[in-house]
Amino acid sequence: MNYKIAQRAAKLSPSLTLAIDSKAKAMKAEGIDVVGFGAGEPDFDTPQHIKEACAAALAAGFTKYTPAAGIPELRQAIADKHQRENGLTYKPSQIIVSCGGKHSCYNIIMATCEEGDEVIIPAPYWLSYPEMVKLAAATPVILPTSDKTDFKITPAQLRAAITPRTRLFILNSPSNPTGSVYTPDEIKALGDVCVEKGVLILSDEIYEHLLYDGAVHKSVASFSPAHYEHTIIVHGFAKAWSMTGWRLGWCAAPEPIAKAIDAIQGHSTSNPTSFAQKGAVVALNGPQDHLRGWLGEFTQRRTFAWKKLNSMPGITCANAKGAFYLFPNISGTGLKSTEFCARLLEQEKVAMVPGIAFGADDYIRMSYATGMANIEKGLTRMERFVQGLKK
Ligand SMILES: *Cc1c(COP(=O)(O)O)cnc(C)c1O
Repeated sequence: MNYKIAQRAAKLSPSLTLAIDSKAKAMKAEGIDVVGFGAGEPDFDTPQHIKEACAAALAAGFTKYTPAAGIPELRQAIADKHQRENGLTYKPSQIIVSCGGKHSCYNIIMATCEEGDEVIIPAPYWLSYPEMVKLAAATPVILPTSDKTDFKITPAQLRAAITPRTRLFILNSPSNPTGSVYTPDEIKALGDVCVEKGVLILSDEIYEHLLYDGAVHKSVASFSPAHYEHTIIVHGFAKAWSMTGWRLGWCAAPEPIAKAIDAIQGHSTSNPTSFAQKGAVVALNGPQDHLRGWLGEFTQRRTFAWKKLNSMPGITCANAKGAFYLFPNISGTGLKSTEFCARLLEQEKVAMVPGIAFGADDYIRMSYATGMANIEKGLTRMERFVQGLKK
């Protein structure tokens, strides 16, 4: 049988991060002692009070369809979060709860982009953005950056990339995969260009709460009413509440866009899981003290890993100010990222993600969402690997 695959799917690249993760897991299952730095999720458990609220909802029979855009209680809790933490006023009708931040990104791109449209994406980028743009039959326009500029684009670079076809600019700060964080002034300047040119901003703020060294997060929507009107915020429960498997995220959008997303969701996934939403209400409205401990752990691991990476021959690493990734430059080793990661996994049983997956072939991504003992062991092995290359 010759199965015809639709162009939109045939053109997609499979997720390399998921592929590396399954390879490492398969090696582990064979009894091989693999150290995995591929994880895109916190290694901490979901806080207990959130799990309990979900379990109570399940026990009470909260197991039926909810409104496609989420339960009113959760949409209100999200609106309250944006008011309280970001100074942004959203009506619950502007909030759409979806099956993860990734799903929110997809919905937004589907609601706003079509054939002939261009979407500006700074590289290194989260690998799903360009693929989603292609699914919408639109064209990704990639703006390269490097560690020399802390992986940030300039307003001039953004301005030069905008054409009459530009529909959307995707901003992700703090960033996956680099951990880079734009300052409020830098965010405002990028927002100014979009406002002037009438370009919408998809602002992926899922790592908002994971910040180090005094870095601050300011949403691009918060600088003026015009910035607000040009911005769609993406957020979710995966990272700051360690709820990746719950599949819950949201977007906060201007009313007409929220309406379009509501309709798309109503005909595709319908509502996000009912009882999971009850847990999410408590995640937002309940205590946030779990974060302090997590940030302390992350800071310690990041500092150790950053120093260790910089001590290796041929490796340089910018110190990330957010998320839980480091993005070392491996160009001094003479290898490109795919070969580097394949050999590192083969020889030393250490899993890292090749930067080429994020549009940056001179780098690799290390997630430090794993315990300190693992980090010490894995980086000692990586050091041996890199020293071996130099001989
Ligand atoms: C993890 C992540 C998301 C959302 O993940 P979900 O599990 O779908 O909520 C969105 N954007 C970036 C950049 C991420 O790293």
